[in-house]
Amino acid sequence: MPGRILIIDTVATNRIVLKVKMLAAQFVVDACANKEEAIVLIAENQPDLILMNMSDASADQHSLCHDLRRNPETAGISIIAVGVADTSIARFAALDAGADDVLAYPVNDAFLLARIRSMLRVHSTGEELQLREGTSRALGFEEQRSAFEGTASIALVTSGSMESEKLADTLGKALRSTVKTLRPSDVLRSDDTQTGQELIVVDARQADIQQSGFFGLVSDLRARPQTRLAMQLVVVPKDKPEIAAMFLDLGADDVVPAASDSAEMALRARRLIARKRKHDKLRDTVRDGLHAAVTDSLTGLYNRRYVEPHLARLADQSRKTGHELAVMMIDIDHFKSVNDTYGHAAGDLVLIELSHRLRENLRAIDLVARMGGEEFLIAMPGTSVVDARLTADRLCELVNTKPFNLGVDQPAIKVTVSVGVAVSGQIKPEKGSIGKFCEQADKALFAAKSAGRDQVAMSMSVA
Ligand code: GH3
Ligand code: MG
Ligand code: MG
Repeated sequence: MPGRILIIDTVATNRIVLKVKMLAAQFVVDACANKEEAIVLIAENQPDLILMNMSDASADQHSLCHDLRRNPETAGISIIAVGVADTSIARFAALDAGADDVLAYPVNDAFLLARIRSMLRVHSTGEELQLREGTSRALGFEEQRSAFEGTASIALVTSGSMESEKLADTLGKALRSTVKTLRPSDVLRSDDTQTGQELIVVDARQADIQQSGFFGLVSDLRARPQTRLAMQLVVVPKDKPEIAAMFLDLGADDVVPAASDSAEMALRARRLIARKRKHDKLRDTVRDGLHAAVTDSLTGLYNRRYVEPHLARLADQSRKTGHELAVMMIDIDHFKSVNDTYGHAAGDLVLIELSHRLRENLRAIDLVARMGGEEFLIAMPGTSVVDARLTADRLCELVNTKPFNLGVDQPAIKVTVSVGVAVSGQIKPEKGSIGKFCEQADKALFAAKSAGRDQVAMSMSVA
């Protein structure tokens, strides 16, 4: 998972030390000293995550943090405050200014990297959902507001202790919600009673690296359908960064040291619930609002109406992040003869089955659309030329190696497709460039057809 990280620190040696660590972990890194420089860098190349020295509570950094959070364009960037004094007041001030997490010096490298990985995961989910929501807005659907209002459904998983009881009480009061206390064995029962929790707090303050029960619990919660979408906040032993790192890598959304004060616990819990509600709403918008208008009723794929604004946003994102975007045009070979030989209904079955194969074999973030007739478009963000080629070949094979069923009393038939691929790292900002980019994929498709069909052709020119 590559990502772009911006380091903001007035002290040059701090910047250099962090930059070296981030480069070693294969991130793209920018660094600067102050708010003014940061604003310029962020506008030029939006980072996925910011590491900001917030050791001085009166400095610019707190106001920068505030400003970034207030601006919808930058509100989704993850922010880690480093160098914050390990006092509840300093920690809370940084979190309250908008930082997602606070780390004191010296920073534990394993924990920092786990924290970054976990935030980038959240960032890409959020970004993807946001992108889709943005597309729905472009199509004229209402934006839905989301905030943490009313009560929340919270579970606290604990093997039982006085501290846990106190924590349940604190959270219940702060979030005006009932906190259901569960034993680890209750949570993993495979019935439906645990469905619908918005936040699961796992009290793992007793966790030790040898006795890994809590680790399994966290990854199981992430894997199970009933609890998969619940936010997980894990209370970790203080001063055991390697344990906290492990929880983040296993899927915890946030970790908080056991000794943190109740205001911090409540703030983190409230944020997680707000994030969950936002993601749920965004998912619903996509699922319900858009569905009928922008999907094709035969195959269930997105239709041409959806593609245009979504591609424009993907292109925009590609420009900002510098990540490549690949577009494929897929056309069924000699499809007319399927209709002519077996009938239109059989042709429809082929279209449905092909759509299913495409959707099942691509990532959730890839856009799969039926552009009309027997022509499909696939857009793959963050995909290099090599990966796009491999994927296109894989899709071709996926079609030509397994015959298509046409129902009972009909023979299964061999179907092939031709694929044209265009990949672009930097799509030019001028209007209509995305159209030109698709044209290149179209030209490549034509080349694949001319070369004999059942094959992939790559566009020669780069947008
Ligand atoms: P090529 O290999 O050059 O792509 O040849 P082709 O026969 O696939 O291309 P052509 O454009 O000549 O024919 C496309 C056919 O797709 C004609 C049209 O009837 C059929 N078609 C378009 N939409 C549908 C549909 O929704 N259902 C069915 N069954 N057929 C469709
Ligand atoms: Mg065709
Ligand atoms: Mg065609």
